[in-house]
Amino acid sequence: MTAKTTVKSTARLMEVFSAIQGEGFHVGTRQLFIRFALCDLRCHFCDSVHTWNAPTTCRIERSPGLRDFEFHSNPVCLTTLMAWVERQNLPFLHDSISLTGGEPLLHAAFLQEFLPQVRSLTQLPIYLESGGHRPEQLAMILPYLDSVGMDLKLPSVSGETYWPEHTNFLQLCFDAQVEVFVKIIISEQTDPAELQRSAQLVAGVSPDIPIFLQPVTPLGGVLAPTPQQVLLWQAMMKGFVPQVRVVPQTHKMLNQL
Ligand code: SF4
Repeated sequence: MTAKTTVKSTARLMEVFSAIQGEGFHVGTRQLFIRFALCDLRCHFCDSVHTWNAPTTCRIERSPGLRDFEFHSNPVCLTTLMAWVERQNLPFLHDSISLTGGEPLLHAAFLQEFLPQVRSLTQLPIYLESGGHRPEQLAMILPYLDSVGMDLKLPSVSGETYWPEHTNFLQLCFDAQVEVFVKIIISEQTDPAELQRSAQLVAGVSPDIPIFLQPVTPLGGVLAPTPQQVLLWQAMMKGFVPQVRVVPQTHKMLNQL
């Protein structure tokens, strides 16, 4: 006879806080951020290196936007996270909940339980930010998502290559009729041939999916593209996908988290 075990749903988190989204389609909106720990990629431009390994503690904002953090040990159980979200969720404040990281899809089993409950508690749309390389895990939580931002990794910029996975990931979002956009970090090292391949990949799923080109915020020797490069690359990509917007990380300009 097999012994019955009870698995308590837990996740390793980095932080929970309220802030202004500084990237992509939702730029400027107020979101309740849940930043998950762990990432299985190693992008050259990563500004979240602290998420790569499992931290022993996470920080939680007591009052939305006041940065009055308290610290808790990891992993965090589902009911605790629900209570933190409830405390942050003041009426009319947030436009959506952002699942970010790290790579949130490394916590897909936890999210499968957490998302239906948090949607029913807050009535807020759920937005996923992902590296776009784990379509199987995406499929596990897709019914609970309203919006997805897929980071398309360019080998010349990120050092990561996931063309087939990106195609499957995007197709799943499109077929599920979830709002989806593609974000591509560009630097002065970007290979335009990879940008063309990216635009063709997106157009192959649907030319209606918007692409956001995000000039890298210079870090550790990775330099931003020149103004001329940005203009040339946007023009080239618009030959495949009509909506190609260029938006830098605005939260860094505003000195936000
Ligand atoms: S996917 Fe995001 S968190 Fe992971 S290495 Fe790349 S930039 Fe960093």
